[in-house]
Amino acid sequence: MTALPVIAHRIGGKVVDDAQRRIDVTNPATGEVTAAVALASDEHVDLAVTTARTAFESWRDTSLARRQQILFAYRELLREHIGDIARVITAEHGKTLPDASGEIARGIEVVEYASAVPAVLKGEFSEQVSTGIDTHSVRQPLGVCAGITPFNFPAMVPLWMFPVAIAAGNTFVLKPSERDPSTSLLLAELFEEAGLPDGVLNVVQGDREAVTAILEHPEVAAVSFVGSTPVAKYIYETAARNGKRVQALGGAKNHMVVLPDADMDLAADAVTSAAYGSAGQRCMAISALVTVGDAADRLVPRVVEQVRSLVVGDGADPTSDMGPVITRDQRDRVASYVESGQAAGADVLIDGRSEGVPESATGFFIGPSLLDRVTVDMDVYRDEIFGPLLSIVRTDSLQEAITLVNANPYANGAAIFTNDGGAARRFQKDIDAGMVGVNIPIPVPMSFYSFGGAKASMFGSSHVYGPEGLQFYTRAKVVTTRWPAMREGHLDLGFARP
Ligand code: NAD
Repeated sequence: MTALPVIAHRIGGKVVDDAQRRIDVTNPATGEVTAAVALASDEHVDLAVTTARTAFESWRDTSLARRQQILFAYRELLREHIGDIARVITAEHGKTLPDASGEIARGIEVVEYASAVPAVLKGEFSEQVSTGIDTHSVRQPLGVCAGITPFNFPAMVPLWMFPVAIAAGNTFVLKPSERDPSTSLLLAELFEEAGLPDGVLNVVQGDREAVTAILEHPEVAAVSFVGSTPVAKYIYETAARNGKRVQALGGAKNHMVVLPDADMDLAADAVTSAAYGSAGQRCMAISALVTVGDAADRLVPRVVEQVRSLVVGDGADPTSDMGPVITRDQRDRVASYVESGQAAGADVLIDGRSEGVPESATGFFIGPSLLDRVTVDMDVYRDEIFGPLLSIVRTDSLQEAITLVNANPYANGAAIFTNDGGAARRFQKDIDAGMVGVNIPIPVPMSFYSFGGAKASMFGSSHVYGPEGLQFYTRAKVVTTRWPAMREGHLDLGFARP
């Protein structure tokens, strides 16, 4: 029997592979174990943080122009290797290759934003704030920053974090999901190839033990987390208690509201792609379709037709529209929500437990499910399922739809489909969500804006990447300066007077 390859840590530009604990990594399309991933101990985390802390001393002094050159080179290497990275993502996550390439492309946009660091990291200057006195402000790096990331975007979510932190002069320790750990190593190796000095970006593989070690390490200045809500809340509270700056993005239940005047073909295409793309395993996936008035009569048949046309299969097969879910347990969990929705009185229009599952599949496949006449008291509506299951909730008015969306504890994204500008304006003003789409189902902001939700979808005040990300990874300093020719008159113990 051949030994499984080991996916190890990368610390200070070197592979560190002496883990006592390891777990299996599985290809969700086949169910086969393809590798073992090392799980970091406190000592590994300490080594990574200490290495990053040492690298910080020279990295913070590296000129903005040099950092920019490295980021330019990194962007080119990522573009060159997009196919290789996508294949690694698909083999461990299961999403289709075009979808994997798409997430890398969104991540590259953040590298492009970070390359603009000399332009966007400027301070302010005020001349003559008092007689002979000037004031200027600068934003300085924090030191060692850490990122803890989820399985569903193994390239994009790490790229939301470390390019911005590193561009700002910090060094970084990344702890990716243990379910699809290889992508982070590729991202780190390519950054080193682009000229990033060893130790500026380190990857520790691991589970809760590694996370606890990061949260408790005195040299970690800031923690960025993306994952499920219970873990986000725990990370936020623990990191804050330990004196760290923290941003923790959690789970979601994203609604798409469709008014009777909407373009129903556009809305049907949009909701199908937003609900079932990546097998529903996107934090911005639409999981609740909220119809208003008689919109459902024209929309639902179109959605049924679209969903029935989806081809489920191995993400590496170019004919597949939708791959498997991440684990066998997750497949069973999604199936249990079809059952509980049905038992609670929802109409199961498409049952992914029996329909759409590829024949003779050994992987973690479930077909797309569509449930109509779901009500807000049902578990299928209330819980974040994170799988290919769309619930349709019917309402009578826009106001009822807005009230329903705002009563949900999650507040990541929300979308409205309509041709009425006034209704869209009211929606975007009154809806409780961090990101709003008007005739766009998944309104993920471009990298020169910032990404984040509210309520149970986000703990902390700075969204990720873009201007808020840069703010998060830097600390303000304000300098007040006087260059007196000579001290004049008597000593004054008061504040300087204007
Ligand atoms: P998860 O919360 O299980 O894991 C996220 C990270 O936390 C992983 O690195 C994991 O190793 C670590 N972790 C897991 N349990 C932990 C624990 N008890 N203590 C400490 N660390 C722990 O999330 P996931 O299943 O990998 O990802 C899916 C979730 O992420 C969904 O809820 C999804 O909505 C959310 N998500 C949110 C966003 C967003 O932007 N808001 C983006 C992507 C994913």
